Amino acid sequence: YYLLIISLYFAPFNNCVMAQEKSIEKNIDSLLQQMTLEEKVGQMNQYNGFWDVTGPAPKGGNAEIKYEHLKKGLVGSMLNVVGTEEVRKLQKLVVEETRLGIPLIFGYDVIHGYKTLAPIPLAEAASWDMEAIENSAKIAAQEASAVGLNWTFAPMVDISRDPRWGRVMEGGGEDTFLGAKIAEARVKGFQGDDLSKPNTLAACAKHFAAYGFAEAGKEYNTADIGTSTLYNTVLPPFNAAVDADVKTIMNGFNILNGIPVTGNKMLQRDILKEKWGFDGFVISDWSSVGEMVPHGFAEDLKHAAELGVKAGSDMDMESSAYVLHLVENVKEGKVDESLIDDAVRRILRVKYELGLFDDPYRYCDEEREKEELYHKKHQAAVLDMALKSIVLLKNDNDLLPLKKGQQKIAVIGQLADDNNSSLGSWRLGSDDNTGVSVLEGLKNHSINFSYSQGPKVFEDANFLNEVKVNHTNTSGIEEAVALAKKSDVVLMVLGEHGFQSGEGRSRTKLDLPGLQLDLLKAVHEVNKNIVLILMNGRPLTINWEAENIPAILETWQLGSQAGNAIAKVLFGDHNPSGKLPMTFPRSVGQIPIYYNHFSTGRPDPESTVFWTHYGDEKNEPLFHFGHGLSYTEFKYSNLKIDATDEKAIKVSATIQNIGGVTGKEVVQLYIHDKVASVARPVKELKGFQKISLDQGASQEVTFVLTDKELGFYNHDYEFVVEPGTFEVMIGTSSQEGLTGTFVLK
Ligand code: BGC
Repeated sequence: YYLLIISLYFAPFNNCVMAQEKSIEKNIDSLLQQMTLEEKVGQMNQYNGFWDVTGPAPKGGNAEIKYEHLKKGLVGSMLNVVGTEEVRKLQKLVVEETRLGIPLIFGYDVIHGYKTLAPIPLAEAASWDMEAIENSAKIAAQEASAVGLNWTFAPMVDISRDPRWGRVMEGGGEDTFLGAKIAEARVKGFQGDDLSKPNTLAACAKHFAAYGFAEAGKEYNTADIGTSTLYNTVLPPFNAAVDADVKTIMNGFNILNGIPVTGNKMLQRDILKEKWGFDGFVISDWSSVGEMVPHGFAEDLKHAAELGVKAGSDMDMESSAYVLHLVENVKEGKVDESLIDDAVRRILRVKYELGLFDDPYRYCDEEREKEELYHKKHQAAVLDMALKSIVLLKNDNDLLPLKKGQQKIAVIGQLADDNNSSLGSWRLGSDDNTGVSVLEGLKNHSINFSYSQGPKVFEDANFLNEVKVNHTNTSGIEEAVALAKKSDVVLMVLGEHGFQSGEGRSRTKLDLPGLQLDLLKAVHEVNKNIVLILMNGRPLTINWEAENIPAILETWQLGSQAGNAIAKVLFGDHNPSGKLPMTFPRSVGQIPIYYNHFSTGRPDPESTVFWTHYGDEKNEPLFHFGHGLSYTEFKYSNLKIDATDEKAIKVSATIQNIGGVTGKEVVQLYIHDKVASVARPVKELKGFQKISLDQGASQEVTFVLTDKELGFYNHDYEFVVEPGTFEVMIGTSSQEGLTGTFVLK
């Protein structure tokens, strides 16, 4: 009865959505009938911005060819064209001069903001706060859509267990459950509830798939992984993005198990489009269709075009393979035209949904462009996100928070005076040096301090340059030590340059670059009261630091408001609540190291040598996944498991704030399926809740485990739930918590 009432209530709305969908499909049918094969293929072609549209039309070379293609309707999309003026001009050219006037869709890498920058995605992941993450993506969309853009190449949902890989900064960390939740939140944030509103962007989950498993963390390297890892670890965040109605998916550069993902039919057609029912379109990664030639998978560009389209790659980013060769491939009978029709239908569908056919200039609002960029509201939101992203790794003897005005403070380190590094990588639209540095943040909060840079570690760098690091020139250390000596407490701001992580930034060493550890050790000789403020785009192997420095704050790269957020946390205006989304290794030799590994069968030291271990390193990581402290303390007690309803098993615990201040805690739930037809990891995150507790207050936190959490994918990619014993843990990290068991009959 209630269902009937509810469905009657929603009926007009559903009917309206369905009618809209039907009319879109009808419009596409009629458009497809009018299109020549050349025009269809044109829709599948994306070019990088090649011409300053404010100047005259390009003459000669590649630019002229591309310009001619634009005028003939042989381009469906542009990337890296920004600004309402530029977008409007190109859109006008296409709408007014091509035969059918099909609008372009404008894509760009809006990864963690456009002008106003939020923390890098890995930092945001450390907040475990899905509402905040969704809001952050919403703000990015709000700004980017005001400069004519309607499509972002984000979120990157690649799971990675290898901090050598520079792009871990761009993702949600090592865990598939957390990663899937973040994927959903970011897609919702970018796309909003109505994509046709001009302040939203079509999202793009990337890189499909397994790019994060590049061997040895080396950029663009092959990924070779088994089916269980592919199905259970790599694919779920993409599936979550599709369930959240993501409009596009980007494939990748990498070979996966011998086949370049751009040419991988099993992934793109069988799983993504068939099994998951994805009805948006797949874009290649930059020239990845063409790269199938050097990969040794395609003979030449023409063959690459054939393979790409057959495998389900709908749009070709920048390689020109499609626009130059698909027509020929169809005419020669190598590619069925129905595959082209399907790809074009998908692309047109997204353009319709964005409202581009109603008004191709809807994103070109010059007034909005002036108003939105660097808006105060956005600054406030990214500050909030930055505060939530900070992780307190260590705090011996409650050194933090510091008390205002009571201590002589020294600040040391080049990164403290840097407005650029904290902006992180992947910020193509932003202006350089627009971040609040730590020094500025302290000043803004009326903190008195003295500053010494120490040795100059980094030369200026940008997105396209390798960062140069000084390993030899020690000048500056002496001065810093002298300052430390006469201070009560030393804030050492150390870490990576903002462009040391990101695409193309793999590293084999994960310690503090250059002379930073030498500097830290020299300061430590004269003053042990050190707070280490880390700025970095990935987990680091900071062993000496973790052992010797009493307080360590992981601040990642926090974006535009970095310095303000750091000052607030240092002086207790904000109590940190972040938790690591990625394991910190002790040494590079331990990588890949991640909490949800399998048992090796010999986990214990039963004999002196023949058990799972290193002869020269501990098995344990330096900091566990899910770790993060607070200025208060939380006590976990009273674990309860109610398995009477096997479809909704309740697991709960009481969390009490037994420390001195109000704080937030991310309560984490892990399971271990002890025996299964495909062995399960020793621990798997299956739930988390972020709660706020006043001093002394307590709360019972309950998780409900359903088939969704208890099952897994077998080798045939079937989702199965198997009876047997499950261990559960509710805890403060992947390492520490209350444990119990239940049996599924
Ligand atoms: C990256 C993508 C990005 C594209 C366009 C490629 O190099 O791998 O993630 O979206 O460039 O900028």
